[in-house]
This record gives sequence, structure tokens and C-alpha cells, in this order.
Amino acid sequence: MIIKSATYVTSSSKINQCPPPDRPEYAFIGRSNVGKSSLLNMLVNMKKLAKISGTPGKTQTINHFLINEEWYLVDLPGYGYARVSQKMRDHWNRLIMSYIRERENLISLFVLIDSRHEPIASDLEFMEKMALGGVPFARVFTKADKAGEREVGKNKAVHDKTMLATWESLPPTFITSASKGNGRDEILDYISKTMIFFKKDNSLRH
Ligand code: GDP
Repeated sequence: MIIKSATYVTSSSKINQCPPPDRPEYAFIGRSNVGKSSLLNMLVNMKKLAKISGTPGKTQTINHFLINEEWYLVDLPGYGYARVSQKMRDHWNRLIMSYIRERENLISLFVLIDSRHEPIASDLEFMEKMALGGVPFARVFTKADKAGEREVGKNKAVHDKTMLATWESLPPTFITSASKGNGRDEILDYISKTMIFFKKDNSLRH
């Protein structure tokens, strides 16, 4: 896929403020500092696309961007901030769960994982939640250039093993580096190929 245009649409603090679900949608989520903004900027070739995304403690919003006038890229607020109040955690939970359950044009959620670490409980718990909610998702291992090929391989293997202990199969998986551009073509290809699952009356997830 060639990215011809990427424009900011809106930030929503409630699901009913999101744009009409009239195009295929792909959302990105991960722990704070996982490299989400860098990955999004790398994907659409724009340095400041994800600048709008919340810093810890700021309002948590669902940020929509329109890509090629064709599909929505969504930057979701992250989890795992250390210094966040219980009230904000509860708000995040409600916001994310309602987005994931109710957003009928959501084709796939990309869950970002720092490739430098072995599985973190909150990442696994989050994926478990997604699976139970019937949400199609993919894993994206970030910062692969920092970890190096061997470490990425090792950490991914531990991840796979942990997931396969309770899951039948593994989700689609991408290894990325925002600084080197790795994984960009693969993710954009995946988006191109899965867009056909979008239906106006969306029956995909039901
Ligand atoms: P976010 O909080 O998830 O949006 O994370 P950021 O995109 O702001 O990245 C957090 C830090 O990791 C920043 O210092 C980035 O420069 C760095 N970073 C993000 N992705 C990569 C990557 O692929 N390679 C390297 N070397 N650094 C990265």
C-alpha cells in the first residue's frame, strides 16, 4: 500500500463521539513507551501524526486519522502507566472495552509489545481479554533494532510458548523497527488484504 494521505480527524473521549463507522478501521494499542507514536508515524510517513496522543495523566482519547481517504487508523490510549490513579485506570478500561466491543468497523487491533522484554503480565492479560471478547488482533513487536535479532527471537519464542499454553494458535505477528522502517510493508500489506472484511452492515464480528 502506498500512503498518499494521512489526516487527523478527531479525538473522542466516548465511543459515540467517534466518526461514523463507514470505513474499515485499524487500531493500535500498547503499554506506555512501547513505541506506538513512533510506529504510527513510521507507518504513514509523517513525523508528527501521533503527536496528539496523550501523555500520562492527560485526557485519554481515541484518536482517529483518515488514511488515503479509505481507512481509519486509530491511536488508542495506552495502558500500564505507573503513576495513574485508579479512577483513570477505570476510565481507560471502560473506554477501551466499549470501543472494542462496540466499534463494528474495527477490522483488527494491533497490540504492541516491546521486543526487548519477555512477556509482561499486563500484555498477556490484555490479549486474553481481546480473545474472550472475540476481537481479531495482531501482535507487533517493537524496537527490534534495539533488541537485536537474537534477543527478539528469544523473547518472541517465550511469548509464543506462553500464549500457546492457553491458546490454540498464534495471532498474526509483526516485527518492527520505527527507526529502520522494518515491518512497515508487512503491516500495510496486512491492512490492504484484510480491508475486504469490511462490510457496511458489519457482520464480520458477529
Ligand atoms: P509511545 O509512548 O508508545 O508512543 O512511545 P514513543 O513512540 O514515544 O517511543 C518511546 C521511546 O522509544 C522514544 O524515545 C523513541 O524514540 C523510542 N523508540 C520507539 N520506537 C523505536 C524503535 O523502533 N527503535 C528505537 N531504537 N527506538 C525507538
